[in-house]
Amino acid sequence: MAEEYTVRIDESLCKGCFLCVWVCPADALQESDRRNERGYRLPEYVGGCRGCRQCELICPDLAIEVKEGGEE
Ligand code: SF4
Ligand code: SF4
Repeated sequence: MAEEYTVRIDESLCKGCFLCVWVCPADALQESDRRNERGYRLPEYVGGCRGCRQCELICPDLAIEVKEGGEE
């Protein structure tokens, strides 16, 4: 089924605090073992977003953007 929302993570801005993972009520974001160029571990979007935007609001580094509609 097509995703109703698109969750974009700007990996270069992320500092690996995982507040987004903690706040997501849908478990749509999870900790990954990948790191960005600054060495911070990255979250990954695993699907199932409900569009609440809590991740976008809590991210201290403005690294997450949630949009309506699936990925083109
Ligand atoms: S809240 Fe922002 S900075 Fe923290 S892990 Fe998530 S995307 Fe990265
Ligand atoms: S918008 Fe809400 S449901 Fe979607 S990934 Fe962010 S916190 Fe999770």
